[in-house]
Amino acid sequence: MSKFPERLLAGYQTFMTGRYTAERARYRQLAETGQEPHTLVIACCDSRAAPETIFDCGPGELFVVRNVANLMPPYEPDGNYHSTSAALEFAVQALKIRNILVMGHGRCGGIAASLDPAAKPLSPGDFIGQWISLLKPAAEKIQESSLMTGSERQTAMERISIRNSISNLRTFPCVKILEDKGKLEIHGAWFDISSGELWVMDKDSGDFVRPEVEVA
Ligand SMILES: [Zn+2]
Repeated sequence: MSKFPERLLAGYQTFMTGRYTAERARYRQLAETGQEPHTLVIACCDSRAAPETIFDCGPGELFVVRNVANLMPPYEPDGNYHSTSAALEFAVQALKIRNILVMGHGRCGGIAASLDPAAKPLSPGDFIGQWISLLKPAAEKIQESSLMTGSERQTAMERISIRNSISNLRTFPCVKILEDKGKLEIHGAWFDISSGELWVMDKDSGDFVRPEVEVA
């Protein structure tokens, strides 16, 4: 039998003696009553941008779905395997979630790939290529701009893709209906992994602004 990674076992030990001990009652209560998370987060798989860490959330608070480049595909009830749409459906219809956050981040490899027309498939299946083709119409327009530097294109695309995902969220009837009734709020945010800065999307303009937060 292959050996379970040492780092994970050590981390589990720290968790059990630290956080689990401190939050034992909360875990027990969550096991009995079920989860009631307040926010669905659609985040990237990137190991540097974990929502629970960035927002300092405990067990039971965030319902998180992570995928390459934090994309929300449009509503397509076509019988294919839609994992992000399944998570959305459960969060909205079963958990009655009150907030949805599409959370992007700086230096996103998935976004970089969407802006690289010469990118080769990583495997014959080209799953990434197919997935990020969701961004193709926007990415093509950004690529055309010779006025922008590479890093400006990257940051612009990271933020455009958040707005794109939010538009796609609204193609789901359950989301649209609940948002129109005022029972569901949709948010966007972008996290700069090098500086720790969080930028949140203004609902009306779609611009990203720094929220007022005291940081030492
Ligand atoms: Zn990413």
